[in-house]
Amino acid sequence: MTQILELVNLTKDFTAKNGTKIGAVRGVSLKQAKGETIGVVGESGCGKSTLGRMILQLIRPSSGQVIFQNQDLMSLDKSELRQARRQMQMIFQDPYAALDPRMSVGKLVEEPLLIFGQGSRQERQKKVAQLLEVCGLSSDLASSHPGALSGGQRQRICIARALALSPKLVVADEPVSALDVSVQAQVINLMMQLKRDHDLSYIFISHNLAVVKYVSDRIAVMYLGRIVEIGSPDDICTDPAHPYTRLLLDAIPVPDPERTRPLDQAPFDPLETKLSSTGCSYVNRCSFVTAKCKQEAPKLVSVGPPAKSHWVECHLYQ
Ligand code: ADP
Repeated sequence: MTQILELVNLTKDFTAKNGTKIGAVRGVSLKQAKGETIGVVGESGCGKSTLGRMILQLIRPSSGQVIFQNQDLMSLDKSELRQARRQMQMIFQDPYAALDPRMSVGKLVEEPLLIFGQGSRQERQKKVAQLLEVCGLSSDLASSHPGALSGGQRQRICIARALALSPKLVVADEPVSALDVSVQAQVINLMMQLKRDHDLSYIFISHNLAVVKYVSDRIAVMYLGRIVEIGSPDDICTDPAHPYTRLLLDAIPVPDPERTRPLDQAPFDPLETKLSSTGCSYVNRCSFVTAKCKQEAPKLVSVGPPAKSHWVECHLYQ
């Protein structure tokens, strides 16, 4: 396996306005193979965006390592980091906020090429037309402004911008959550096609397990800043081990008006949960709590065959 990314014990602490320490990401370790899509799933506030932004060093980690293509990003100086960042791009949730409404589509897609001094004006314009086409947009749109476009078109422009510098890794943070359901599948299919054609690796962040299941080679389930379970989409969705993963699965909507959604029944405050837990961080919500869960944090262990592909952090499996 050629490795593209490794996270080693990555941690980020924030300080809330009232002075409380928030462990947004708490010791995340992960290895990603080149060409692999790792889906990161979990409820709002579990640390997904912080993790994604730390990978690109948009947020500086409190501790730990981000190793991208064998380079420890934390040890790079500003200009080295700038070069490394060319190969890593981010797609954000909100295509409305991500695009400057005063710039034309052509200028928006050209901007990354300009910033990195790529090609002549003519070459850049040719590249912009190619990128728009690759992303399923007519090159005629180059003179339009984002305000005239639909949400799906805008997200395609964000994707074209992200592709402009031929990245190796794309971190997509809820890339379809702000789009109409009818458009979501089109954008996801485009991303999957681009992955194949451009040899990309994705970190695909979403609160929606159904979406993550569709796109991922492996799924990492996050809860309160930790990866509590990781495995193939089959492991996670057909044979989930962690009680929290089961809750996420139960929360996937099914067309049954009589059925209640478990996550709606269990409102939780991340800060409150963190403050009250000493052992396992899921202890306050778990239906299988034992005395050990309250006293001792569980370690990540391998579950089920084949060995070493499905891991869970839960005392039920220690
Ligand atoms: P997610 O993407 O899963 O919704 P986030 O990574 O945005 O979660 O947030 C994780 C936790 O860190 C939350 O409790 C959030 O309130 C907190 N947090 C995120 N950014 C900041 C910040 N800049 N300052 C203080 N707390 C933050």
